Amino acid sequence: INHGFVVALVYGALWIIQADVAQRNGQGRELERALLQGELLLYLQPQVGEDGRILGAEALLRWQHPQRGMVSPGEFIPLAERSGLMPALGDWVLRTACLRLAAWRLDARTAGLQLAVNVSASQFTQPDFVARVLARVAEAGIDPSMLKLELTESVLADDLDAVVAKMAVLKAHGIGFSLDDFGTGFSSLSYLRRLPLDQLKIDQSFVRNMLASPNDAAIAQTVVALGRTLGLQVIAEGVETDEQRSFLCEMGCEAFQGYLFSRPVPPAEFEAQLHGAWRPLVPLASTPLAGP
Ligand code: C2E
Ligand code: MG
Ligand code: MG
Ligand code: MG
Repeated sequence: INHGFVVALVYGALWIIQADVAQRNGQGRELERALLQGELLLYLQPQVGEDGRILGAEALLRWQHPQRGMVSPGEFIPLAERSGLMPALGDWVLRTACLRLAAWRLDARTAGLQLAVNVSASQFTQPDFVARVLARVAEAGIDPSMLKLELTESVLADDLDAVVAKMAVLKAHGIGFSLDDFGTGFSSLSYLRRLPLDQLKIDQSFVRNMLASPNDAAIAQTVVALGRTLGLQVIAEGVETDEQRSFLCEMGCEAFQGYLFSRPVPPAEFEAQLHGAWRPLVPLASTPLAGP
């Protein structure tokens, strides 16, 4: 092998790595700017009960980029994780969600609603996570039970005792917990009874294929049964059709979220929806939204 060629190859590889790191830093800085300059938005997607009543909403991050338009969290959350910005981003989300809840408290139509906030594993494992959440709740002066934190199974990869201890403190203050994307992670069922959860969220991948795939239907059914046995509310995400909704309803699923009811929308639009001044993007099916 030609020595010069190997040297050139190594230098080439180093140059590519360096360029990649520089680009990532650049994107990280751009996201930091977005955070400081108010380019981030929290959209809300309603969560609906068996009777069609709005129980609350999930807060979902959006980045309104000046050139690229609306960037989805699937794109910038991995970037935030790589550049170490996720805890700061998560804190912004919590603060913004708590301020929204403070406004909700003042209106009888919104006062009883819960707002679910996604928490990433890197955010949850921060040593000051519990103190931060409590500080945001106190600053906004809200009832902690209006807030629900959505964790994914990735959080549980960490020291389980530490996870349970953190959850227990927040739970003692009245903050709710939901296990998001349930069924997609690597998890043993034994931890479930150790976690102070309020809700299990059936992942949308099972809901999507449920009517065509008996396996996915069986998983959805099992999650519902498991949740009920453990005394947890079960919510299905990604509900797009009335057939999916009624199938889940028959299984005993109590809450629903998905395009059938509404896409994630700006908070003002969500609130208008509650006040009856807004029509869903996807019209509700003509059949009444009643349980079996
Ligand atoms: P997720 O928490 O599982 O949120 C549900 C995702 O499904 C959202 O995507 C929502 O827009 C989408 N969705 C809702 N209903 C339907 C439906 O009927 N059909 C289909 N096809 N999709 C539906 P989104 O907003 O793009 O968010 C993607 C993921 O990004 C979230 O998944 C969550 O893991 C993460 N994420 C979003 N906001 C935050 C945040 O504030 N903090 C953290 N840590 N993660 C967030
Ligand atoms: Mg979620
Ligand atoms: Mg989810
Ligand atoms: Mg999901």
